[in-house]
Amino acid sequence: MTQHETFNFVVVIWIGLAFVITPQVSKLAAPYGRHFTKKFGPTIDNRLGWIVMELVSPATFAFFFLRGDQIKTPVTWLFLGIWLLHYGYRSLIFPMRQRTRGKRMPVAIMASAIFFNVVNGFLNGQYLGEYGPVYAESWLTGWPFVAGMALFLLGMLVNWHSDNILLHLRKPGETGYKIPRGGLFRWISCPNYLGEMIEWGGFALLTWSLPAASFFIWTAANLIPRALAHHDWYDRTFEDYPRNRKAILPFLL
Ligand code: NDP
Repeated sequence: MTQHETFNFVVVIWIGLAFVITPQVSKLAAPYGRHFTKKFGPTIDNRLGWIVMELVSPATFAFFFLRGDQIKTPVTWLFLGIWLLHYGYRSLIFPMRQRTRGKRMPVAIMASAIFFNVVNGFLNGQYLGEYGPVYAESWLTGWPFVAGMALFLLGMLVNWHSDNILLHLRKPGETGYKIPRGGLFRWISCPNYLGEMIEWGGFALLTWSLPAASFFIWTAANLIPRALAHHDWYDRTFEDYPRNRKAILPFLL
């Protein structure tokens, strides 16, 4: 087996793992945010946890991308830029805007996110920096890139806009929960998760790569069960919660 074939094999195993783990994960919503419990051992400040666990992803991606021997083209630099744009927001801007003062997350959650981000950053950075094709500039006018970029930007818009609505529900100093309204919240409880899934679906298309497809699958495996758990929680917590809302896919789920 060549190194590239071994690498592809690892990605396929990683995708398979997402399918094996999802039914187990679905039984228990990851214990951070509204699903936090003290049963999972030592905890860390919520904001610090987000910054540390999410910074690992751009660092790992950039390291393996830059280290790889494949010829870097304007297209692959753009891929790196897209990754850094998303994770610049997620690891620095989003945590600083959260109104979660005094809240904690289990170190175990932070550690598992770090593990995921190392593997995911490695697979995607290594592919685009080493094993992937030489992406010529003509790639930018092909349908996978054009459609994938449109999806990525749409997903980012939905994710940022929905995060923004959620982050403004609390007045400074508040840490409780309210019913979110407006935007895609008219139809679903977790449009921020839907936006995130669309983003990584778009990235898989615009790079046309197996590791990016694995990221999309893992994102869906994480966020669909979590959206269902959030939706149930809203239903149980608020008597006046809009009954026509779905969890993550308008009119469907
Ligand atoms: P949530 O929607 O649970 O929370 C987002 C922020 O809004 C938190 O600060 C939360 O506070 C606050 N918030 C949420 N709902 C309410 C409400 N009803 N009233 C008041 N405040 C509220 O998202 P996550 O924290 O799970 O995820 C954050 C981002 O990270 C999302 O955009 C998601 O897409 C992304 N993500 C991506 C993953 C992937 O696999 N690619 C995995 C997990 C997350 P609090 O923390 O106190 O609940």
